[in-house]
Amino acid sequence: MRTVRLAGKGIVQVIEAAEPAPGAGEVVIETAISAICGSELHAYHGDGLPQGNNGHEAVGTVARLGEGVTGLAIGQRVGVSAIAGCGNCVYCAKGQYTWCSGRKFYGNMHAERFLAAANACHSLPDGISWEAGVLLTGDGLGVPYHTSKKIAAPENRTVAVFGVGPIGLGNVLVQAHLGRRLIAVDIVASRLETAKRLGAAYAVNASEADPVEQVRALTRGEGADVCIEAAGRPETALACFAAVRTGGTVVFNGEQGAISLSPSDHFIRRDITAIGAWFYHFSEFGPMLELYRNGLRITDLITHHYPIGEAASAYETFSARRSAKTIIDYH
Ligand SMILES: [Zn+2]
Ligand SMILES: [Zn+2]
Repeated sequence: MRTVRLAGKGIVQVIEAAEPAPGAGEVVIETAISAICGSELHAYHGDGLPQGNNGHEAVGTVARLGEGVTGLAIGQRVGVSAIAGCGNCVYCAKGQYTWCSGRKFYGNMHAERFLAAANACHSLPDGISWEAGVLLTGDGLGVPYHTSKKIAAPENRTVAVFGVGPIGLGNVLVQAHLGRRLIAVDIVASRLETAKRLGAAYAVNASEADPVEQVRALTRGEGADVCIEAAGRPETALACFAAVRTGGTVVFNGEQGAISLSPSDHFIRRDITAIGAWFYHFSEFGPMLELYRNGLRITDLITHHYPIGEAASAYETFSARRSAKTIIDYH
């Protein structure tokens, strides 16, 4: 079978690989589509990955069952959470796999068939398209949805999203759907246009104007109630603290290393709350599905499709920030 291999330094290969064999509690999925996540760009630009494939957002049909798997049938349509819990702890009992200390990450999904944990498969109802399914079960919508639960307070009326790649755009979509006033900040004009199409009231191009001044100008000088860092960059993180109102909330969605923050200046004297939000809880699939059925236009996040044979073009377009959510097709 064919699998994608991120070889590093911008090289993407499609190679033949051995068929995956399911262990106890695992299944093999025949892939319909997979989605590229911004977090893969480190491996794409850098030294690649040992196994070459970090795909962690995919949907398909169950093709093989490992030992002891019940509740799933061959041919069943599923979306998969790449993070699978141990199944035995208090967090797993509540579907909070990301909090489980025994969790496993299944990053092997940009392939014609892939391995998944049976307890991390969501059955996809018949009316749900593959495109909707991959967003509802991957982190493309999962992170914005999980974030929305943490900033649900009604006083959070204006939300500024710094960086409108796929995760930032998902935040724009979800927050606008919830009735909030959205300010999208980025340096790529086409992404800002997409943000407006998804519900942003304002688009700020940070390559043309100081984004902190712009956010303050749009909020009577006070700053946004919530600033979401979705670019994974130190300067954007600092801009979020500068653009949030006193008593407001900064959310970290973008992965990055250490940055320099002062407890006094950034937190204490302005009463700032900073929170992290990673992936989504397995148990949040139901509520996300309900939001989708109530009109959340999640498939608008997808702008590009590529067959697996053109995976290199998919990564090239995505890394050049010319696409939003980017899909690889296997049939
Ligand atoms: Zn991801
Ligand atoms: Zn567990």
